[in-house]
Amino acid sequence: MKNEERVVVAGGGLAGLRAGERLRELGFRGEIVIVGAERHLPYHRPALSKEAINGELVASDLRLTISRELDAVWRLGTVATHLEPDRHVVGLPGGEELKYDGLIIATGVEPRHLAGAPRQDPRIHVLRTVDDAIAIKRAINSTQGLVVVIGGGLIGCEMAASVKSMGRDVAVVSRSSTLLGSAVGKSIADTVTEAHRARGVRLAMGVKIRHWVRQSGGVAIHLSDGQVFFAAVVVIAVGAAPSVAWLRGSGLVLEDGVLCDPTCHVVGGTDIVAAGDVARWPNLRFGGQPRRVEHWLNAVEMGRAAAENLLAGRESSRPFTPVPRFWTEQYGMRIQGSGLPAMGTDTTTLAGSQKDHRTITGFISDGRLVGMVGLDAPTAMIKLSTELWRQNKVTASPRPPQHSAPAASADPGEHRLPAGPRAPAVPRQAPEPVPSPPPLPSHAPVVRSRGHSRALARSGPKAPPR
Ligand SMILES: Cc1cc2nc3c(=O)[nH]c(=O)nc-3n(C[C@H](O)[C@H](O)[C@H](O)COP(=O)(O)OP(=O)(O)OC[C@H]3O[C@@H](n4cnc5c(N)ncnc54)[C@H](O)[C@@H]3O)c2cc1C
Repeated sequence: MKNEERVVVAGGGLAGLRAGERLRELGFRGEIVIVGAERHLPYHRPALSKEAINGELVASDLRLTISRELDAVWRLGTVATHLEPDRHVVGLPGGEELKYDGLIIATGVEPRHLAGAPRQDPRIHVLRTVDDAIAIKRAINSTQGLVVVIGGGLIGCEMAASVKSMGRDVAVVSRSSTLLGSAVGKSIADTVTEAHRARGVRLAMGVKIRHWVRQSGGVAIHLSDGQVFFAAVVVIAVGAAPSVAWLRGSGLVLEDGVLCDPTCHVVGGTDIVAAGDVARWPNLRFGGQPRRVEHWLNAVEMGRAAAENLLAGRESSRPFTPVPRFWTEQYGMRIQGSGLPAMGTDTTTLAGSQKDHRTITGFISDGRLVGMVGLDAPTAMIKLSTELWRQNKVTASPRPPQHSAPAASADPGEHRLPAGPRAPAVPRQAPEPVPSPPPLPSHAPVVRSRGHSRALARSGPKAPPR
């Protein structure tokens, strides 16, 4: 990219912001235009189901630090409407056309709709944006009675814990038999499920919603086990779908997100890269099967890698091969995940305390440790994470399958691992700076950005620095 050229970033969230900043760090002096559907500058989304609900933080505390050098043109409250790769044009409302020399697609995901749910009812909410969180908080504070969360995944569980900490009666409805089931492995899922139950959260597990009845005092939710929850407020948290509707007809491959090659360059496009929740790419460290990763740290790291590779050009680009990390926090319990647990076909206990619930579950595929999830075991997670790097070397192309049996272990001090292939030591990476809080804008301005910083409470990552 030449300095007089323009880079357009579609999506004004975390990945888009960090990509823009990386362009400046690498000396790009051309114009950067960030098109964001939301009217807010980027903010810390993980806090939306935690501190922003339980009142520890208000919306104005959530703004992310924006580096002074970014000097971007922000088109906030503006939706990218379509893409014409052949003409290097991003369409904006009203027929406006934004020419680009380079494009970064970082439009994230949107909450998945729940079939049959009367979404038009103001008592029924989803949670993806700060405006959603403000509406949910207002609904909870202005009502009495039961708050029902539909969905037992990360966001659903965090919502239930936050609402419970506000002293409200809350219920979780889920089709699976435990909370967080597939994301963290059975043993940790059982502990989390018990933690919610022990605090009085009403759990309707392994059930389907038969029908909804909207009444003046609330919404009656009829379940397949015959239970009826009468909700004052409902939060639907049943997963998310990539925000790619604006790309239909562009020629890009849009199955479960924007398909990219290992270097974040999109398949079927030129001078276009993608990053964050919306991007599906083959991580050559984990077998090369294209996957999306909906984690905060991945949005940061992939935003930076995509910017680097856009400037480098497809031929000179480096594969993006992270070990993904995520965290969640409920009732003060901290769960950290590393690698790709979802890839595991088997699990093993890598560390477990006889005394309390602290434990680490390892996820095994083809005799290799491909992921781990720890509950209140940050030090052991850091120690064991080197093993994930060691056993998952970057391969030039997708890795052929191998077969060998895993081994198990006893206490948090003692780690025994499946005998994976030998690999060199792992490079350390600086942890991501904690976001900070100038006030949120009140209307959809076109602004040039200048940033300042201050520490944020708890929902920053304490995942293992590498
Ligand atoms: C409630 C909640 C809690 C979470 N908690 C955690 C956690 O504890 N740990 C963790 O690791 N991760 C967590 N995450 C996930 C993490 O926040 C995401 O992985 C990260 O924000 C993804 O960043 P992104 O930039 O890819 O997408 P986003 O942050 O979603 O940004 C994409 C932006 O693009 C905009 N956009 C979409 N379509 C268009 C369009 N056509 N034109 C213009 N703009 C568009 C969207 O409005 C959005 O502002 C949480 C997410 C949520 C919602």
